Amino acid sequence: MRGIVITKGIAIPEGIAIPKPGRARRPDFLVVGAGLFGSVFAREATDRGLHCLVIERRPHVGGNVYTYEHSPKRPIVVHKYGAHIFKTNSERVWKYVLRFADFNRYTNQVLARFGDSLYNLPFNMNTFHQLWGVITPAEAEEVIARQTAPYRAAEPRNLEL
Ligand SMILES: Cc1cc2nc3c(=O)[nH]c(=O)nc-3n(C[C@H](O)[C@H](O)[C@H](O)COP(=O)(O)OP(=O)(O)OC[C@H]3O[C@@H](n4cnc5c(N)ncnc54)[C@H](O)[C@@H]3O)c2cc1C
Repeated sequence: MRGIVITKGIAIPEGIAIPKPGRARRPDFLVVGAGLFGSVFAREATDRGLHCLVIERRPHVGGNVYTYEHSPKRPIVVHKYGAHIFKTNSERVWKYVLRFADFNRYTNQVLARFGDSLYNLPFNMNTFHQLWGVITPAEAEEVIARQTAPYRAAEPRNLEL
């Protein structure tokens, strides 16, 4: 074996019983977890002629991005571990993932409620109009410049001490 790939910092218990390969080729890698990382690693390594043994404690692959259909009668896709949205602007990545999964069309339409008003998110000219009554980008920049002026001289810091 060339190495052990551990996802999520999981240690493999000492003396773990790796199934006897029998006539099968001895694995080059033991991949613990068939989530995104483990699955992609195993796929890529296998495509390069390496042999991977993937072990997964859940009864399915995909890790936290796993989805299933509610029932054949009700083909509702359930995101078992919470809703997942896939985003990429890379044609190469998009073609890659389509080899393994189908995707629903999704449009990100978010409104934020503050008090009794609804605001468009992510911020766009509608949001600035709702907030400040401005109409042009120049007017919005003017308000932003006014509001950020007191902080210009300050040294940017995060919350760490
Ligand atoms: C609620 C939620 C919403 C999210 N939304 C998004 C989103 O919209 N877009 C996005 O890009 N990302 C999203 N993420 C993040 C995304 O889920 C993770 O980045 C991704 O799943 C990480 O993949 P992974 O392979 O590292 O880990 P995981 O998906 O956690 O896979 C690890 C796998 O290892 C297995 N395992 C662990 N220990 C062992 C063991 N000892 N033996 C055998 N198997 C083991 C686990 O069962 C699991 O299947 C979201 C995450 C959550 C929780």
